[in-house]
Amino acid sequence: MSDDNNLVISRIEKGRVCVHCCTAPDNGERVNAYIVETENRLVIVDTMLMRPHAKAFRLYADTLGKPIDRVFITHAHPDHWFGMEFFQDLNNVSLPETVEEIKMMARLEIDFHRSQHGELVNDKIFLPNPDASEKSIEIDGVIFRLHRIVAAEDLFMLAIDLPEEKILIAQDLIYNKVHLFVGQRSQDGTMCFAGWIAALQKFMNEQYELVLPGHGIPADASILSENIKNLEIMRGIVESSDGGNFVQNVLDAFPGYGLRSMVEMSAFFLFQMK
Ligand SMILES: [Zn+2]
Repeated sequence: MSDDNNLVISRIEKGRVCVHCCTAPDNGERVNAYIVETENRLVIVDTMLMRPHAKAFRLYADTLGKPIDRVFITHAHPDHWFGMEFFQDLNNVSLPETVEEIKMMARLEIDFHRSQHGELVNDKIFLPNPDASEKSIEIDGVIFRLHRIVAAEDLFMLAIDLPEEKILIAQDLIYNKVHLFVGQRSQDGTMCFAGWIAALQKFMNEQYELVLPGHGIPADASILSENIKNLEIMRGIVESSDGGNFVQNVLDAFPGYGLRSMVEMSAFFLFQMK
């Protein structure tokens, strides 16, 4: 196998947990999946897109030698749940709306990614248990607060914070130096910007010290305002562009940002699927 299948793994000790940030290479959309390691258990957040990456992620979790308490699936985009294939022996949980969204979108997403990557992506629909809701839970003595976010990067999203450790597991509410996917529309056609910015503003009132993005490397709380600023810029570009110049306008506005494919995906959903 080529380097395309190597995950980049970093470990961050914070309070009573150790966060393992596992990042897929560019062909796996540079997506992050996380392991929150407590004294006696592991909590997994998301499961990656491509089979080799998801499998490597599961193998890595197993090397830590602690039971996996559960797997949170934060939202219905395929780079966060396709890899559930390798976690079927575990309790996978999401918001109930995410289960419905996966049911609705999975076939289209599987067909699209199979056309791009063939056997390297999953071809089955895996559904999490619809057990997550806006609430606090305790796992191995650590408080996890679950937040239900509506109409942001995806229609429904789960964000998780550990208030005592001052950690926000933001997943796709935050991208760090990676192009934002802004192609999601609500059923009435509303674009993602207002809901997404409102969600980030709510989290700015908390004093987080570690913010874990869905794409790009972990950051401090300043990444929240940086993402709001980037969303405002993106909203302006969407309003002033057409299908012909959108991609170039975004690349010009964010030099040095990774994953051009995210811009192309936004363009497809904004201008072709209208
Ligand atoms: Zn993502």
